[in-house]
Amino acid sequence: MADNCPICSDTPGHHWLWRDDRLRVIDARDADHPAFLRVIWHGHEREMTDLSEADRLHLMDVVWQVERCVREIAQPDKINLGSLGNMVPHLHWHVIARWQDDAHFPGSVWSARQRDGAPRPRVPAALWRATLLARLGLPTVGVSPALADAYAASAYAADVPGGPATLRIGAAEPLLDQWLAEHGQTQWALISAANPWSSRCEPDANRAAHAALRALLVQRGLPVCEAVNWPEDRASGWTEPALLCAGLSPEEAVRIGAAFGQNAVLAGGGDRTADLLWCVRPISIP
Ligand SMILES: [Zn+2]
Repeated sequence: MADNCPICSDTPGHHWLWRDDRLRVIDARDADHPAFLRVIWHGHEREMTDLSEADRLHLMDVVWQVERCVREIAQPDKINLGSLGNMVPHLHWHVIARWQDDAHFPGSVWSARQRDGAPRPRVPAALWRATLLARLGLPTVGVSPALADAYAASAYAADVPGGPATLRIGAAEPLLDQWLAEHGQTQWALISAANPWSSRCEPDANRAAHAALRALLVQRGLPVCEAVNWPEDRASGWTEPALLCAGLSPEEAVRIGAAFGQNAVLAGGGDRTADLLWCVRPISIP
């Protein structure tokens, strides 16, 4: 961590796509280039040869995997890979999809604009995350005892008919069972799209992610209810929107939670009471 380094002080949020204990992958959110990702080393290291060999191999392996993901999703004419760091000497790699009709082709994305680039939609964060997950496995996230306790103590209020139903780890809820039965379903999951990896985000980003999650579930024809978390300590707890969904298996719930950058989801049904399922590989931190 270095003072005045914009990369060190970059707070996680909806543009974080994958991470482990050594590095992170983010969406550069470049206005001209819709499929522009960045692989950033967590530590404030200056040059590739400042890393140990094992770390260097790991960083490059992730860069290759990210390149594969960008090719697969964006189908560009060319990939540009770059590590400059003249402006910000903190190790990071750019992985950029390029098209012959983009704003800067054939120059680099930092060169003079050649034209108004052909409009291309941005790739949704959930699609990037799901694709990275398939190649790199579950992200690794540090979980402190306080955060683990907060998950264990968390309860959710779900807006089912006759409700709200209260969902709590290890507890049964007759209203929920009734709602499942009405829809001919036997299992449920509660998933949020807010505040990826427990890092606080702007309300607008949270609302957009919630809408995207809702669209994904509704498109699958699954019954969905609005829900909100209900922290034990209402004074200090965050209020996060979530969705209760019937008909998702625990595996699907974890995959969808991971695509929305969640540490965990809640799931249950049948003879199972509500259970917390991790969508990351949690590592204990003090
Ligand atoms: Zn730094």
